[in-house]
Amino acid sequence: MKAIVVGGGIGGLAAAVSLRRVGWEVQVLERAAEFGEVGAGLGVMPNAVRALEWMGVADEARKLGTSRVSGGIKASDGRWLTHLPGVGQEKIIAMHRADLHGVLLRALPPEILFNNVEVTGVEELDADLVVAADGINSRLRAELLPDAPGPVYAGATAWRGVAPGPFDLEISQTFGPGGEAGVLPLADGRVCWYVSAVAPAGADLDPVELFGGWHEPIPTLMATTPEILRHDIHELPPLPTFVSGRVALLGDAAHAMVPYLGQGACMALEDAVTLAVCDGDLARYDALRRPRTQSVWRSSKTAGKFGIEMRSPIALALRSFALRALPPSVAVRGMTRFSSWEVPEKFTRTGRIHQ
Ligand SMILES: Cc1cc2nc3c(=O)[nH]c(=O)nc-3n(C[C@H](O)[C@H](O)[C@H](O)COP(=O)(O)OP(=O)(O)OC[C@H]3O[C@@H](n4cnc5c(N)ncnc54)[C@H](O)[C@@H]3O)c2cc1C
Repeated sequence: MKAIVVGGGIGGLAAAVSLRRVGWEVQVLERAAEFGEVGAGLGVMPNAVRALEWMGVADEARKLGTSRVSGGIKASDGRWLTHLPGVGQEKIIAMHRADLHGVLLRALPPEILFNNVEVTGVEELDADLVVAADGINSRLRAELLPDAPGPVYAGATAWRGVAPGPFDLEISQTFGPGGEAGVLPLADGRVCWYVSAVAPAGADLDPVELFGGWHEPIPTLMATTPEILRHDIHELPPLPTFVSGRVALLGDAAHAMVPYLGQGACMALEDAVTLAVCDGDLARYDALRRPRTQSVWRSSKTAGKFGIEMRSPIALALRSFALRALPPSVAVRGMTRFSSWEVPEKFTRTGRIHQ
């Protein structure tokens, strides 16, 4: 059985690794001149760590990720509102996106990877399965589901970067009025960070002006980062299906979500493994993935309402009080409630479980 994966981002590469594991012949077509990832860091949450384990690349990821992760949520003056002791890489792997992308890329033979190929339609692809992993602005999705709404602006913009350091910091997320910031230390002393503010799309804003007065290390990280990336945040309204004929939508092409639970790329990793386990049964893939990802999509939106979108001083004070009063494990429950996902059992097309 032959699969063509359109898009060589984290989702597309994970799909290629996973499908090859169950015996599919795979080709990956990427429109960019090179396979690579921009952006900053991400936390590979426990659910996605299980997906990487199934793909056989978790140990490689652990070598590049941060070995122990401790941290919590702060107020914009730097006080901890909730603080959690360290967890090891068996649970969360904090890493640079480019490193995760690299781990997946190295798990694939170069001869199946094709650059400078912009796919313009499904018809041109000769395969039993087409994986549309072509991102939030997916051309294949627009072709297959022409009536489904496209991406919409989610009301906030983000700046991201990697400060060379070396720094010795904990993971932290900071909530302030109408904005939030995140700090993700890497194993080698570099620090991935983001700041994000509620703003009209394309607004002419300077992150240093907005966040320069927040607690350290946020101003220093911004000041010492050679290149700061700006990203207006978009989301894809829930789709009626993730499959059409021999095509399966995967990753942001299927369910781009706001990043407030840090689960977007993690969902793409889950999609990839599930698609392989379904072994061509796309109805089962849709049944397993659509409810799960749309639930995470909704919760990510809700996290934004209690996080970045909160502005009134009374609501902010209540949130700080609640975060301080609750035990840390309960305070971060919104972040962790999707972590218990396990790789689904593998069925053959006749319904028997593979041993
Ligand atoms: C500000 C921000 C912060 C985030 N933080 C986190 C986080 O902490 N944790 C987390 O898990 N997720 C996070 N995410 C989400 C995560 O970045 C995405 O969910 C993930 O990268 C999606 O991967 P993908 O492979 O589906 O899509 P993409 O990374 O968009 O890859 C799509 C690929 O397809 C290629 N392509 C497109 N069209 C074509 C075509 N026609 N032909 C051939 N190739 C094509 C593109 O060039 C690209 O390489 C964040 C997102 C944002 C915006």
